[in-house]
Amino acid sequence: MPSESSKTGFLTDEELKNSPGIPSEARRRKGPVASIECMEDIPCNPCESSCHVDAIIVGEDITNLPQLDGEKCVACQTCVYICPGQAIVMVDESLPEGKATVMMPYEYRPLPDTGDVVTALNRAGQTLGDAKVVAVRQTKRMDQTATVTIEVPKEWSMQARAIRLKR
Ligand code: SF4
Ligand code: SF4
Repeated sequence: MPSESSKTGFLTDEELKNSPGIPSEARRRKGPVASIECMEDIPCNPCESSCHVDAIIVGEDITNLPQLDGEKCVACQTCVYICPGQAIVMVDESLPEGKATVMMPYEYRPLPDTGDVVTALNRAGQTLGDAKVVAVRQTKRMDQTATVTIEVPKEWSMQARAIRLKR
């Protein structure tokens, strides 16, 4: 049966709750961790092969949804830019004062600059509000996929999944 996300084009709250790739709240509060938000049963597994600590398991049947062992994740960020579906982000809910960061793959140009205030969007592309860019990373190894990290209120950490530049 087609998943809800294949009809809506984005991950629904129900799918998110049942996904084997989502780190627990307890793990997110300990520090940065990958959140694997892949809900299509497609033959794909670069996330698994790129993880040097075996925190991601797809298994022999590569149409399985990736499973995350959040306790093994050392937040190296590799899976975020390796994933061809841009389905992985890093979430960190360990910040003080009710803040969190979300690091997401970003393939648009121009890139934002660190310090920019951008508009944070949810999975459906709806506006959440302003967010500050706290890091932008691109290296040769990452090819065309940069990563952008935004600081958001903690309650947006599992919602903010895209940005819109203000300039
Ligand atoms: S961030 Fe690094 S350690 Fe964590 S799941 Fe991804 S590849 Fe593995
Ligand atoms: S690499 Fe990305 S799209 Fe492919 S299985 Fe892993 S999370 Fe899903």
